[in-house]
Parts: sequence; C-alpha cells; structure tokens
Amino acid sequence: MNCPYCNYHDSKVVDSRDVSDGIRRRRECLACGSRFTTYERIQTVGLFVIKKDQRREEFNRDKLASGIRKACEKRPLPTGTIDRVVQDIEAELYSLSKSEIPSAVIGDMVMNRLKKLDYIAYIRFASVYRQFTDITALKQEIDSLVDGQEKTVDMTSQLPLLPADDLLAGGKRRRTRR
Ligand SMILES: [Zn+2]
Repeated sequence: MNCPYCNYHDSKVVDSRDVSDGIRRRRECLACGSRFTTYERIQTVGLFVIKKDQRREEFNRDKLASGIRKACEKRPLPTGTIDRVVQDIEAELYSLSKSEIPSAVIGDMVMNRLKKLDYIAYIRFASVYRQFTDITALKQEIDSLVDGQEKTVDMTSQLPLLPADDLLAGGKRRRTRR
C-alpha cells in the first residue's frame, strides 16, 4: 500500500507479527521515512459457484447446509448427519482444485448423498433442485428409486418412512403375519 503521508508506492517492513486472523506489519516509507501499520488477512481460497443463469456467486457453506437441512426437515436422521454431509461435500469440492464449480455439480453431490441417506429427503431436494415441472417426472424419479431399491439397494441402510412402531400401532385392523 502507498504511504498514507506522502503517497509513495514503496515501503520496507520494520516489524511483523502474527495476529489472530492475519499478520500485522509495521512499515517505513522509503521516501519520507514515516511509519505506518498494515494488516494482511489470511483469506481462504475463493471458490465460486456458477449458477444456471451463468451468474457467479461465492460458495457459501451455510447456504448449502440450509438447503440440505430443509430437505431433511423432520426426517429421523441422527444428530450431526447434516453437518457431516456438508463437510464431506466441502472436502470434495476443494479436492477438485477448481476456482469455479457449476451449481449442478454441487447439486449432484448433495443428491448422491441424500439418496443413500434418506429417500424422502432425496426426493424433496430433487424436487426443488431439478424443478420437476410435472408429476410425471417426479413419478419417474420415484419409480427409478423403487426399481433400484429392489435390485441393488441394501434396504438396511435406509430409514423406514415411518418408525416401525407407528406402523404397528395402527389399531384394530392391524394385520399380523402369523
Ligand atoms: Zn511517505
């Protein structure tokens, strides 16, 4: 930075020390000899999201978390699950070592994880994110979930849609399998 007294462009550092969020440097102007202080903040590597309309927006972990939280609302997921999903996605994003990432890539990362975690949360997220325009598209997605479930998905990894107790507490007309 230029000298605040004479506006000269160059200075030497006479002292520097770490402060909580960066480095504080004491500088001396090479022209007039005045001393002044600068602070350099450590900045995390910028990551930008390119949205559908091509606008760029700085990656915002809170926004990601709140989208996932909304999809998981009232779902019986263990405490900390959402935070772990967010951390996991963040780590994957940074591991790509790119400064710009299309929002679709992040959306897919969320969907892949929700699909393994909870179908209802997945469908909720997908219905917003993919903007299913009609019920047919939504039904196709659900059908593909059900098909995949029959063929490949390990059902023990899925949470029941309703706790088993609720299902069984259905009352008089409850059927027994025996
Ligand atoms: Zn100066």
